[in-house]
Amino acid sequence: MLTVEKAQAKVLARIARLEAEPVAVLDALGCVLAADIVSDIDVAPFDNSAMDGYAVRAADTAGADETHPVVLAVVDHIAAGDMPRVSLREGEASRIMTGAPVPSGADAIVMVEVTEGLEHGGSTGGTVAIKRVAHAGDNIRLRGEDVRVGDVVLTAGEVVNAASVGLMAALGVAAVAAYRRPRVAIVSTGDELVGIAEVPGPGKIRNSNSYSLAAQVASAGGIPHLLGIARDNEADTRALLSRAPEFDLMVTTGGVSMGDFDVVRDVLEQIGEMDFWKVAMRPGAPQTYGTIGGTPFFGLPGNPTSTMVGFELFVRPAIRRMRGFEHLYRPRSQAVLAEDVKKKPDRGYFLRGRIEAAAEWPGCAVPYTVRLAGAQSSAMLTAMHRANCLISLPEGESSFPAGSLVECIRLDMEEGTP
Ligand code: AMP
Ligand code: MG
Repeated sequence: MLTVEKAQAKVLARIARLEAEPVAVLDALGCVLAADIVSDIDVAPFDNSAMDGYAVRAADTAGADETHPVVLAVVDHIAAGDMPRVSLREGEASRIMTGAPVPSGADAIVMVEVTEGLEHGGSTGGTVAIKRVAHAGDNIRLRGEDVRVGDVVLTAGEVVNAASVGLMAALGVAAVAAYRRPRVAIVSTGDELVGIAEVPGPGKIRNSNSYSLAAQVASAGGIPHLLGIARDNEADTRALLSRAPEFDLMVTTGGVSMGDFDVVRDVLEQIGEMDFWKVAMRPGAPQTYGTIGGTPFFGLPGNPTSTMVGFELFVRPAIRRMRGFEHLYRPRSQAVLAEDVKKKPDRGYFLRGRIEAAAEWPGCAVPYTVRLAGAQSSAMLTAMHRANCLISLPEGESSFPAGSLVECIRLDMEEGTP
């Protein structure tokens, strides 16, 4: 049987980055930039005050201290957004607010806390006592000190975060070139399924997988499209699967195991091509992959946790590659197993676990411990809900006593190493 790593390689062999498109700056959050962002302005755009206080000529404040303040004439009052009305001459100061342009003639700002407004409270026409020596450059933010005209502020290939959005906004960049988010079709299969707003009749259950999958697609930055439920017959399944070429990816759930009514694989072979249909893993061995009309197709198994684990291992990396990411897989951490775990040696296991910082680090071998997040049946979603990692136990081994070092795939972290 195909190993998970080989299956992942086969998946990625068919996946290419999507094209770039113009995206409004705020919608680019979390996207990969397709082009450098070059500044056409200086930031700060002009020398400005870092403090509320007084603009002065530093030389005028020589010798000033608490007991011998220097008294200056206040000749202007400059608010943020104003322009200075006068330049400073010897013996003069301008009241100035944070972010306001520094008047010519001034070379320092004295913060208001070390001054005392005398006549007229330090407003224009009065005087101000300066109680500390100022040095040239004090509390002045220089033009271009953050960004200069022509600087490459963000580079192609980087992921837009909140600070990048703010930077681009400061530069007047309203839209950027970013790699497109894939449109992902989601199809559930099963005669037993009813809509989530319905009360299931005898023998029926709600279609929860379409929703967990759509949430996973959205979390990975794809755009989910719920195409509904295909009943367990070829005609119905073919009708929905043949819509794959309308999308960048198609993901189905159920109908890929050995049941008498599992028709997804047959339909895939009729209308597309199949690369593999079984992977040496648990949960969810019958992971199916191929293409329909050129669109990559994932036939995930129906058990709710198998579906989600299959998505995590195979679909999420594909979505990330389409979106232009270099890092496709979650980070992994080594952790000390807090309980005994046994498995069959014939395949790799992906157990739902909770990883935590070890209580006694640095006494422990690694800084994390991990335990099972609940009962491990693939039909049960509660442990998946509690899990913050998948404990990856390799094929070929069967016994992992408490204290073993195991590898955890961090579901609680976005980005991995290359
Ligand atoms: P299958 O792979 O079609 O044999 O389904 C395996 C198990 O998963 C069965 O118990 C199904 O009822 C269940 N299942 C399949 N599809 C869904 C779905 N969309 N939502 C919830 N459970 C499902
Ligand atoms: Mg089924």
